[in-house]
Parts: sequence; structure tokens; C-alpha cells
Amino acid sequence: MKDPFASARPGDVGIIGDPVEHSLSPAMHAPALEAWWKSLGGAEASAPRYHLFHVKQENLAEALEQVRSRGLRGVNITVPHKEPVCAHLNGLIGFAGSARSVNTVANRGGQLLGYNTDAEGFVRALKEDFGLHPNGRTALVLGAGGTGAVLIRKLLDEGARRVFYWNRSAGRGVDGGDAADRLRRLSAVEEINGEMDGIDLVVNATSVGLKKGDPLPIEGLRFRKEQFVYDVVYHRETELLGAARKAQAKTAGGLSMLLYQGALAFEIWTGAAAPLELMRKGLKKI
Ligand code: NAP
Repeated sequence: MKDPFASARPGDVGIIGDPVEHSLSPAMHAPALEAWWKSLGGAEASAPRYHLFHVKQENLAEALEQVRSRGLRGVNITVPHKEPVCAHLNGLIGFAGSARSVNTVANRGGQLLGYNTDAEGFVRALKEDFGLHPNGRTALVLGAGGTGAVLIRKLLDEGARRVFYWNRSAGRGVDGGDAADRLRRLSAVEEINGEMDGIDLVVNATSVGLKKGDPLPIEGLRFRKEQFVYDVVYHRETELLGAARKAQAKTAGGLSMLLYQGALAFEIWTGAAAPLELMRKGLKKI
């Protein structure tokens, strides 16, 4: 099998996942890294590169050894490694520790530190798209997979008054920990619609919408025009966003979360402010 790290040089970064070929991260990180390097007076040829590292679950430990031994600056982590990677790191920083979900790793002299920038990226996206902060608000999160669980925890941490959630499979749920009294699971669509009048923010954190023509994650959802509806899917306007828009709710897709989680990762790796507009432009080109 081809070594995914074969062309990685000291100081480079990249993304570890399975699959990774579809990742949009190179489109924002490559121009940002080049601009940063140039601002330091570095030669173009030696600018850090952003790689796609396709790594299967059974090779994850070995891949992290490569990050250490090759002196990479850090890596992003994506599906399905965000939770399993925690066991292979030297430390988990901040929210990554409580959520046990890492999407960014920094290599500090061979010590691999895990961060979660998805959660803070989501909060910044809500601010940019809606001028909204979760504090004191009531939210509904559809999906309790890896991303859903992180966003539910972040909404609770940020002071949401209540968080409702729904997940298709009964076997997957979220433990609210200290904030369990503010978290409630809903099952049937009638039960969700019965709470809609009190819900300010609806978040789709399922993977429904990834494929063109995907339906709503749960049929029969009713929206209100006073609501903010955010979809983590960033590929298109999903059915969910279309339905919410028809109800005159304010809507936004996941590109802003992708941008902000990337900007925060860039800052962790380089210690420099992320060139946000350059990164946004890179994403828009796709
Ligand atoms: P995951 O852990 O595999 O979870 C998938 C979730 O989707 C589960 O809740 C699953 O429910 C639900 N689901 C899948 N198919 C469904 C269907 N047909 N009907 C209803 N629910 C369904 O995946 P993840 O890592 O959480 O990723 C979820 C989405 O977030 C992906 O689209 C990903 O691209 C996106 N994402 C976006 C950003 C961003 O920056 N914008 C960042 C991270 C992730 P079950 O438990 O019933 O299977």
C-alpha cells in the first residue's frame, strides 16, 4: 500500500481521515499557509503544504507516529477518527477533553496535543450568519452522531437555556452530564413540532443532505419565521434549509462552520492570525 505520508516534509500539515479525498480543507489552508510563509520572508518552494492522509482505523496509531517522526506542524482529524484519536495523543486541550472529540492536532516538539475547533467554529458561524449567541436560547439539534454530540455539548456549555435533540436510531443518545436538566430527547415529529414555538435555533447535525435529493432528516417538521436554522452540511441548500426558508426562517449552511474551524486550526498551528478572507475565497472557488 502507498505510504500516505511519503511526500510530507517537516512543518507541513494535512488531514487524516477515511475517506479524505472529498475534503475542502486544502482549498482554504493552502493559500493561507502560502501567504503566511511569504509574510515571514520564506521562499515559495519551502512553504508548508496541506496533504490528504487517507488512513484506515487500524493504521491510526502508526499515522500519528509519522506526524511525530516527520516533524509535521499538525494535522486535522476527520471521520471516523475524531474520538479514537484521543487515545493516541499526549494531551487534550479545553473542550476536546470534555467532549472527547478532536479535529485538530498540534505537534509541539513531539508532544501531540488535541483540540476541538468544530465547536468554537460553530459558535462563530452562528455569530457571523445570524448575529446569535446560544446563551439563554433554546435549541433543537437533529442528529446525535459525532458532530451532533459535540454541538449539543457546546450549546449547553455556552449557556443555552434548553437543548432538545432528536436522533433516528434509538441506540444513539447524548449524556448531558452536569447539564442533564437542560437536555431532553424528543422522538416523534409531533413531539418536536409541539416544542417548536419555544425553539429559537434548529441545527441539522445529521449527514442527511450530503447527497443531492436527500429528504428532510425527519418528515413533517414545522418551522417558524422567527427561527434561525443552521445546517452543518455545506455542499448545497438542503431540503431542510429550503423548507425553513419557505417558512421565512433565517437560514445558513455549514460553510461558515467549516471556515471558522479551519481558521482556528490555522491559528493553533502557526500562532498567527488566520487570513480569513483568503480562506473564504479559497472555499468559494470550489
Ligand atoms: P456521524 O457520526 O456518522 O453521524 C451521522 C448522523 O447522521 C447520525 O446522527 C445518524 O443517525 C444521522 N443520519 C444518517 N443518515 C440518516 C438518515 N437517513 N436519516 C436520519 N438521520 C440520519 O457523522 P458526523 O461526523 O456527525 O457528521 C455529520 C455531518 O456533519 C456530515 O454531513 C459532515 O459532513 C458534517 N460536518 C460538517 C462540519 C462543518 O464544518 N460544516 C464539521 C463536521 C461535520 P443514526 O444514529 O440513526 O445513524
